[in-house]
Amino acid sequence: MKKELFYEGKGKKIFKTQDDDLFIAEFKDDLTAFNAEKKGKEEGKGKLNCKISTIIFEILKKNGIKTHLVKTISDNEQLIERCQIIPIEVLVRNIAAGSLSKRLGIKEGENLPFALVEFCLKDDKLGDPFINDEHCLLLNLVKDQNQIQTIKELARKINTILLDFFDQRNLKLVDFKIEFGLSKNQEIILADEISPDSCRLWDKNTNEKLDKDRFRQDLGNVKIAYEEILKRIMG
Ligand code: UDP
Repeated sequence: MKKELFYEGKGKKIFKTQDDDLFIAEFKDDLTAFNAEKKGKEEGKGKLNCKISTIIFEILKKNGIKTHLVKTISDNEQLIERCQIIPIEVLVRNIAAGSLSKRLGIKEGENLPFALVEFCLKDDKLGDPFINDEHCLLLNLVKDQNQIQTIKELARKINTILLDFFDQRNLKLVDFKIEFGLSKNQEIILADEISPDSCRLWDKNTNEKLDKDRFRQDLGNVKIAYEEILKRIMG
């Protein structure tokens, strides 16, 4: 049963339960972009993201990735294992877009020669700045270099699994953001969500954007795009 609110983020509320080791994640309809400078709401988005993220986490679990997901308990709620979130946003990119194109001048849509893994500090007040391995150690975000290695290896493995998964559904996985947590037994596990809020997904034939860029760039039909993603990954 849901008890008091533990944490509210931009896309989810996290509640305590009677069991100290379990939380409930409630997916919200709110949409934010550009470090919450742009705000919106899309009725039903929470349910869509909950379903999409659950399917993706189940696929990853089947492929040997440990995650915080226990099970879904309603249309927009997941029961999750309590873990201590490592405050690093791990970005994985296959195709140039977004801030990579802006920072380095690589044209949007250009295939990268290898999957690029980048880190941002998860800190809204600082605007989630890009950081490197040494910053992670300097700020004690991780215990040691081994943990950084583990995070990078898991991120690449998740990317390999998802590239193939989305490719089979006629989608290009352009880039995505993931977060990890430390479980009770100090293991690094996948946490947070993987949804069109945190990924860039393009139609393989037309390059049509089917993710949060529709909101960021005022392209319209945000919900229709998320529904299309759900339809393709369920099919
Ligand atoms: N991303 C995210 N949360 C963030 C920043 C990025 O989910 O706080 C995702 C974003 O949706 C994209 C990928 O990470 O799929 C790479 O984002 P980029 O750095 O290009 O972000 P932008 O500047 O476009 O927000």
